[in-house]
Amino acid sequence: MITSLETFILHVPVTRNRIADSTHSITHWGMPGVKIMTDSEHVGYGFTGTHAHLDSDRLITDCISNCYAELLIGEEIDDPRKLWKKLAHNPPLQWVGRAGITTMALAAVDIPLWDLKSKYREEPLWQTLGGVSGKKVEAYNTDGGWLNFSQDMLVDDVKRLTQEEGYKSIKMKVGKPDPNEDIARIEAVRKAFGENVRIMTDANGRWRIPQNIETLSYLKDYDVTWIEEPLWHDDVAGHCRLAEIIETPIALGEMLYSFAHFNEFISSCGVKYVQPDATRLGGITEALDVCDLAYEHELPVTPHAGDMAQTQIHMSIAHQSIELLEFIPWITHCFEEPLKINSGYFEYPQMPGAGTTIKNECMQEFGRKV
Ligand SMILES: [Mg+2]
Repeated sequence: MITSLETFILHVPVTRNRIADSTHSITHWGMPGVKIMTDSEHVGYGFTGTHAHLDSDRLITDCISNCYAELLIGEEIDDPRKLWKKLAHNPPLQWVGRAGITTMALAAVDIPLWDLKSKYREEPLWQTLGGVSGKKVEAYNTDGGWLNFSQDMLVDDVKRLTQEEGYKSIKMKVGKPDPNEDIARIEAVRKAFGENVRIMTDANGRWRIPQNIETLSYLKDYDVTWIEEPLWHDDVAGHCRLAEIIETPIALGEMLYSFAHFNEFISSCGVKYVQPDATRLGGITEALDVCDLAYEHELPVTPHAGDMAQTQIHMSIAHQSIELLEFIPWITHCFEEPLKINSGYFEYPQMPGAGTTIKNECMQEFGRKV
């Protein structure tokens, strides 16, 4: 039975001090989250992902403490989906927000409920979700392709990731002020590594039709696997129009906050690679629903790693729509069982739970006042 909740905020430095895409520049990854205590020895951990802005992180932890906590005290933890409905279908919160702070707070609460369920069953979450050994989940690495890295750094990083660390797929950011520079960078990576490397590109919602249509059309010449978030995040009609014009498949979903929003993009053919993020969408519960929806439409799911894959690896092992998962190494050292990647594929977590148990020393080192 749930007895109490305790929120936390961690700010963990990114690699090489600062990274940037076409829209954001950050020095730390934010992890506003919550520990859920029970009347047994088990404690559930969960968090969402932010750009480490303390004031907005506190809005999320305040939402957990002030709005969700009282709905959970005294509840049993055997059915996370039932508790998700109680939290999500809460009229006062639906009135003030069905996206953003309230759903990111919901995600941070849903994940420890799954963590607890698996800890009680003494098995890793992928088993609780019905996964079996043997499936391979490929990792693609985004941490070499930031837009503030020079072209030489970009090529060097892809070299390290592919030749030394064994990745077969990488993602690089696009959306430079001069579109010719984007094409030159993609060409440099493709030329350096030939057909051996799968290249994904990500514009982070920066581009517009018709201004950037020429650049978007060039991507096919470099065998780019997908263009991610080419247009503004909510623009369903624009993405549908673009999908009819360019040959490169469109990927999106990291900025969508609900099953309904995904349904809109999927049913209108505005997306080819579906990218739910369990730390933004209302947790593992709703991300699984999106995976089912994509599977019905025969679309592959490649989750966005707001958790840096730490929790979503479990969902990825368990769900038949997922074969490829994003990985960024910023927060891996914070967990009792850090993720491991071997020759470009995730190893299966072995410890009971969702992989979210945070080491005490990391709580001390990176913790901020809630
Ligand atoms: Mg992205």
